Amino acid sequence: MLEIHQIPVLSDNYVYLAHDAASGQTAVVDPATTDEVFAALEEKGWQLTHILNTHHHMDHVGGNEVLKAATGCTIVGPKADKDRIPGIDVALGDGDSYALGGSEAKVFDVPGHTKGHIAFWFEDSDALFCGDTLFALGCGRMFEGTADQMWNSLSKFRDLPGQTQVYCAHEYTQANAAFAVTVEPDNENLVSRAAEIDALRAQGKRTVPSSLAEELATNPFLRPDSPDLQRTLSLEGADLVAVFAETRKRKDNF
Ligand code: ZN
Ligand code: FE
Repeated sequence: MLEIHQIPVLSDNYVYLAHDAASGQTAVVDPATTDEVFAALEEKGWQLTHILNTHHHMDHVGGNEVLKAATGCTIVGPKADKDRIPGIDVALGDGDSYALGGSEAKVFDVPGHTKGHIAFWFEDSDALFCGDTLFALGCGRMFEGTADQMWNSLSKFRDLPGQTQVYCAHEYTQANAAFAVTVEPDNENLVSRAAEIDALRAQGKRTVPSSLAEELATNPFLRPDSPDLQRTLSLEGADLVAVFAETRKRKDNF
């Protein structure tokens, strides 16, 4: 079981420390920056042993080289983008496993936001580190992939247990909610969740992580089979990729 510590950095990024107490191993997931990571390690009394990178964007790998130079940690990242991950030591792809002390992550290839994006699922800790693929009530923009790829990537998460905590890399939830209610206006779970999110943000509180069960019930990007969503988009009975693609397009223009 991992202990997970969330660190807000930059304007809206989340960096995570994942600590295995039995072995003393500690990973930082997607270190955008370093000062806050060093401070959190010191506060927790943890020694950094690993960096887990989901994808190559600077707000996910910006701290790699400084952290590695300071700690000698091992950098783990996507095989399909290994040339764009600074300092990478271990390159992983779909179906691979990676152990952090006694906890094992299953790795998924989840391209679409970038071509080589991976996610780490620590089943024993109910923890999914999904980078910029799935967000609370949203999904990443498709900078380097197609709707078909992105939907296939998100589909992999739909099969995980509902209690899985979605440790995504940005606090985008309120803006995502504002969009989501326009495409699924009759989803009562979504409408009430959107109100809760507004209340949390008004108090300056975090909305991440959420559970996968909540996302499956309310996140339109996981719900192309929703009749309400299909009706709003005038795509009743269309295939799921087409519904997903139209939802993403509308969000891009929202
Ligand atoms: Zn990104
Ligand atoms: Fe990002």
